[in-house]
Amino acid sequence: MLDAYLKNGELFLRDRGIREVTPKVISRAYLQPIDEMTNGYVSVGSDAEAIAVLRRFGFELSGKTREILPGLTEGKKGICSICGKDAIVVPNRAFIFPFERKIDSIVDESNRLTLCQEHAFKLYAAMAYLYTVPTGTGVLKFFFDAPERELKRFKRMFKYGFWREHFRVEVREKKGKKQYSIKLSLMLSRYHPNEAFFAVLHDFVKFLKDMNELDETMEVGRTVRTYLVYGSGQFYREHVIEGTTLEKLIGFLNKVQNAGKEIRWGRRHLSIWDSAVVMFYESLEVPRGKDRSKNFLERGEFVRKLLDGKFDFVLLNEIFMERLKRKLPFPPYYYAWAQSYLGAFGGDVVDVKTFEQVNGLGYGLGKKMKGTNLERYQWELFRARGFEEFLNKLVELQAKLEESLDLRPIYENEKEWKVVKAILLNGMLNALHGADKKDNSTPDNPKEGRK
Ligand SMILES: [Zn+2]
Repeated sequence: MLDAYLKNGELFLRDRGIREVTPKVISRAYLQPIDEMTNGYVSVGSDAEAIAVLRRFGFELSGKTREILPGLTEGKKGICSICGKDAIVVPNRAFIFPFERKIDSIVDESNRLTLCQEHAFKLYAAMAYLYTVPTGTGVLKFFFDAPERELKRFKRMFKYGFWREHFRVEVREKKGKKQYSIKLSLMLSRYHPNEAFFAVLHDFVKFLKDMNELDETMEVGRTVRTYLVYGSGQFYREHVIEGTTLEKLIGFLNKVQNAGKEIRWGRRHLSIWDSAVVMFYESLEVPRGKDRSKNFLERGEFVRKLLDGKFDFVLLNEIFMERLKRKLPFPPYYYAWAQSYLGAFGGDVVDVKTFEQVNGLGYGLGKKMKGTNLERYQWELFRARGFEEFLNKLVELQAKLEESLDLRPIYENEKEWKVVKAILLNGMLNALHGADKKDNSTPDNPKEGRK
């Protein structure tokens, strides 16, 4: 992560025409990366202002920090952790490389990063291309890494196009002191860090389509690695999204977005590209109490897996059943999500065809159960433990419905029976409790659980 971060600093300095790092250059340019991090909404004029901005952006500066410049230039003899040179070095500070695990310092002080002036300043400058999203439970920071040419191209679209439009910093004066607040306009709610990144991606994909840059950016995206960092104090969690995954995630979002249509949903007016993403995502809530972030624990986990290339049918099934207990509607666009995801990723534990078959089987059963006393089988199947019991319940239900259905896709996937069970149940719940044609499907996709 350190190297990838450093590369962003080097790129920023090159973008600004800074070729050599000297004390004179540092003292002339050290406020520039901060301005850039705010998207140019703030022009920092002093160290006090700089420190206020950094704190607002979640940099964990020590309470004693009053100045920045000396932290970059005034050091003592030592060895640089990056280049290994014997030189004047400074200890790492939160404003230089913000993700050093401080816990290591308890174990061994000599493990702390020390940096020569050049590397301290380059790392420090990387904040220019660091992105910050406040969430319900903390702050998500992320940055990109790629071969330089691709990184530049991707940054052009992401930062100068998209981020400028969606991310602002507002400044207010209060008793002669400047106060800063981050304003981010994103369609999706976000309580957990991975949700925050997913929310960013959704709006980014819409932006790319508006600009007619989707295909090109997907191609570049293949080479772009995303580093998500969150947490605080002693522990930073890191989540890396590989370029090949990013490319597919963009493809997936594009597909789901295209499945939507303009609609009024509660008090919100949703555009054609928002409805399918927003309505399903916002319906993954399991209400628990006052602290809303707890309502989205499962969604946070589901999204974390999505970003990893996994579509967790079992977790979704648990969410759906929890919602059913609370008499909440079945999330609209479930089928569009699953189908688009498996399509973009070329399958998961099960392939697209198996999903279609099993989902269709569940959906068909659900339609026939609807309104009869056999609806209770949704619970019986849910509670089934073990493949045998699951299969027996299914055969029983089939007999009671006087139906003979093709159960081969179930037999053929015995090993993945838990996933198959979840897919079947999800299809069934969709038929039993999903909104009918009128609001959650496009005319081309009349049944969420078709086939
Ligand atoms: Zn060095």
